Amino acid sequence: MIYYNLKDHREKINFREAAIKGQGKEKGLFFPENIPQFDQDFIQNLDQYSNEEIAFRCMADFVGDEIPSEILQQIVSETVSFEIPLIKINDRISILELFHGPTLAFKDIGARFMSRCLSYFLKDQQKKVTVLVATSGDTGGAVAHGFYKIPEINVVILYPKNKVSPVQEKQLTALGENIFALEVSGSFDDCQSLVKQAFSDEEINEKIFLTSANSINVARWLPQQIYYLIALKQWIQNQKEQPVICVPSGNFGNICAGLLAYFRGLPADHFIAACNKNQVVPEYFKTQNFNPQKSVSTLSNAMDVGNPSNFVRILELFGHQFDSLKNKISAYSIDDEATINTITEVYKKYGYILEPHSAVAFAAMEQYLHENPEKKGFILGTAHPVKFPDAVKKAIPEKIEIPEALSDLMKKEKKTIEINSDFEELRRFLLHKI
Ligand SMILES: *Cc1c(COP(=O)(O)O)cnc(C)c1O
Repeated sequence: MIYYNLKDHREKINFREAAIKGQGKEKGLFFPENIPQFDQDFIQNLDQYSNEEIAFRCMADFVGDEIPSEILQQIVSETVSFEIPLIKINDRISILELFHGPTLAFKDIGARFMSRCLSYFLKDQQKKVTVLVATSGDTGGAVAHGFYKIPEINVVILYPKNKVSPVQEKQLTALGENIFALEVSGSFDDCQSLVKQAFSDEEINEKIFLTSANSINVARWLPQQIYYLIALKQWIQNQKEQPVICVPSGNFGNICAGLLAYFRGLPADHFIAACNKNQVVPEYFKTQNFNPQKSVSTLSNAMDVGNPSNFVRILELFGHQFDSLKNKISAYSIDDEATINTITEVYKKYGYILEPHSAVAFAAMEQYLHENPEKKGFILGTAHPVKFPDAVKKAIPEKIEIPEALSDLMKKEKKTIEINSDFEELRRFLLHKI
């Protein structure tokens, strides 16, 4: 498979190069040159396939000859080595629980796939390899865990001080070894901007081999298609109609992967982008103007993104046709108060505990289903409620149990390096400290 740079279509590279580089010239995102179609027989009989087989079939065309089949098989089976159940909340809304991986968030799937591809590709690399990543909460933990103790690779994670939950912070900062956590006095946007500056700094790039791990990397973005198929495999066992799929969205990598799967032939009635008060995309759907904003802090902090980078890929998928985009996707913005009320209501009515991101999705789904009374679907449950205890406590007074693996983690020591949002400090760290 060939990938081209969305900013400059003349820049074309293969999967290996795209996974290593992360982004192209002018910070452009890579996009596959063609959209390989699923075999219809495969799609209609998904329930006959194991998750590993589904994952392999989903990824093989995108990887091409860059990874031998038996190694790709190994990589995908490690990528989906935990449960991904579709759970019914009520008659019309189910939830795909994507949070049974090591860091209890859906990002484990993309991060596991990407880290294993990179360690395969870079095993003979001469320069020191550094994965540089900005996180608003969950990415850091998933990436750190994916690369933990891989000898040739260092991971440097930038996260906004005081803006991630205690569990998230421990997942980023307690590992040590080849994982370095930088605590930035600033916002997630500041972290992202620091990362971008590092990628365009000549001296840094001469000395170390820098690669990104955000959802813009094709090796993280593409494997997210896998669980849409795993969801459908469970969906078709009980329902005939196509599902409405609602995705809590921040940087829009997750929903963009679902849409890619749809363009390959995955049956889906409609997609919903569920946002918090960071509502650049819902505004775009109203006005057709895409106006990036400064991010605002919300309870669903992994979606506090003011300039969702993957949206350009969605536009590309739809051939920049606003009308067809609007026909297939709806976007809603849900505020913190509605988020809390949703967690409370869903717990009271159905005994199910949502965390803030999934609650944003549930609320958006309810609005859409209210306007479309004949439809049904599922939301993506992107994190485990224990990762967001403060928000959940506000909504549900009784205490939720902390899984044992987490309480061990919480006892570990936090190790970070504090920096401000001025690039010089990051630069010095990358050049001289690791
Ligand atoms: C990252 C994240 C999201 C947003 O996913 P995008 O791909 O950035 O849209 C939603 N929920 C949780 C829990 C996350 O960690």
